[in-house]
Amino acid sequence: MKFHDIAVLIWDFDGTLYKPNPALFAAVRQAEYRTIMAHTGWTKEHTIEAFEKLYKKVYSSATETVARIVGIPTEDAAVEMENYFDRRDFLKRDDRLIELFQKLKSYRHIILANGVIARHKETLKVLGLPAKTFELMVTSEVVGKTKPHPEGFQYILNYTKLPSKEHLMIGDRDLVDLAPARALGIKTCLVWSDKPSAHADITLPTIYDLSSCLPL
Ligand SMILES: [Mg+2]
Repeated sequence: MKFHDIAVLIWDFDGTLYKPNPALFAAVRQAEYRTIMAHTGWTKEHTIEAFEKLYKKVYSSATETVARIVGIPTEDAAVEMENYFDRRDFLKRDDRLIELFQKLKSYRHIILANGVIARHKETLKVLGLPAKTFELMVTSEVVGKTKPHPEGFQYILNYTKLPSKEHLMIGDRDLVDLAPARALGIKTCLVWSDKPSAHADITLPTIYDLSSCLPL
């Protein structure tokens, strides 16, 4: 299948621009716990219990879960957490990703992520993509909310002023990245999944397959 009217590609960052990485994701989880412990003085055990009670049950964003537990704005929780881990320790240059973006150079690229812009820029450098590949980066620092809240998606639609169906959201989590996009009429692509999503317009086993779904 090919998408025909897409002008803007909206990219999730973690687990999308690189294959979901269990060691990195474990480091992120530890960083979330450390943020909670730094604010509350709780034991690790108590922290994990409080986190598990809310994450994926009340809040589908882990960053928002941390923010609500310690009572700080989501964008502050995102910034604090990022002090406790570094994606660059887990990632390296990805020539296939670089090649993908060369093929997609006629498209506009925007990042919509739940992390912090400065950290995403540093990580892009490691992956081998210039930060200027992306004309805009939207995080909770920009809109005050993380996905799956609609604010970031809406911000991008207001920015491009194009019809929503001319945007394609690419992400690794249906509930967080794709469901809110779909609700606004944005096309959706689930990546790094062997199981076809019942909801996404298309499911791809790797990010590199995306070039076969778009006119180049
Ligand atoms: Mg992700």
